[in-house]
Amino acid sequence: MREDYMDVTGTVFNIQTYSIHDGPGIRVTVFLKGCQLRCKWCANPESNETFPQLMTYSSKCTGCGACFSACPKNAISLNIEGGKGREITDRKLCVNCGKCIEACPNEAREIAGKTMTVRQVLDKVLKDKLFIDASGGGMTISGGEPLMHPEFTACLLYAAQEAGLHTAIESCSFASPGIVDEVFKYVDLGLLDIKHMDSAEHRRLTGVPNETILANIRHIHNDLHVPVIIRVPTIPGYNDSDENIAATARFTAEELGTDIAVHLLPYHRLGESKNESLGKKMDLSTDIPSDEHMQHLLSIVGSYGLQGQIGG
Ligand code: SF4
Ligand code: SF4
Repeated sequence: MREDYMDVTGTVFNIQTYSIHDGPGIRVTVFLKGCQLRCKWCANPESNETFPQLMTYSSKCTGCGACFSACPKNAISLNIEGGKGREITDRKLCVNCGKCIEACPNEAREIAGKTMTVRQVLDKVLKDKLFIDASGGGMTISGGEPLMHPEFTACLLYAAQEAGLHTAIESCSFASPGIVDEVFKYVDLGLLDIKHMDSAEHRRLTGVPNETILANIRHIHNDLHVPVIIRVPTIPGYNDSDENIAATARFTAEELGTDIAVHLLPYHRLGESKNESLGKKMDLSTDIPSDEHMQHLLSIVGSYGLQGQIGG
């Protein structure tokens, strides 16, 4: 590990404490910005780009106009409707400078993402060390895609292990083998997504094929011997067919082993409002899956001798 690992920087958009779905025990989950995939159902669209981005919350906006006056790029206009004003931000003009955020009296705007050093992140994580230790928890790095920032991710994982923390990583496993080897040296548990077993469908739904992903998952478990959990974001009408869940379970059982847990993560709607805050629209037509349907998919996973679970 490089000597100055504590000073390496990354772009972090959230540090979530008391997290209980991102690995064992109580965890602190560090979310990094930047992802190579563009999953149609992404729950964290503010993580897609590597740079900080403006988010706006129209329900908090009173139309006071303070942001309008503060913006050096004339990116903001006010839409007066029925006596109530709402700001409209032209994202093509916005340079994410943050001046409107300082001006807004109603916390209706924020920038997602800031540059932090490994030391700054670790200091925050270690504030919860008592709870983490008492619960058998640790630190999880999520995103976005942590493998898109291999140096920062490896340094943070190393620093966490040096501080006595269990480390986990949530990843789509889309990276070169060299990056996987470098980062997974410091990972105690990999929470690895399989979004679709058909490569053409995977490309249609996420923007990339799945061969590299499946090869990396095999490598992480079978060669690097890192414990893994397979996670399937379960999106009705997109990847929740019996055939796809069976193919995922078959891959897991035959290529990794029947001792590997498979977690089916039901679609939720959090990403929809976040997309609005980013001035984007989701290209997705689905609904939250029923409990019955999730139980049915779970029974398919179980039929391959695997321990399944609904939720993380
Ligand atoms: S972040 Fe800067 S450029 Fe963008 S809307 Fe606010 S003040 Fe204007
Ligand atoms: S400063 Fe805040 S409350 Fe006022 S118009 Fe802008 S976003 Fe709305």
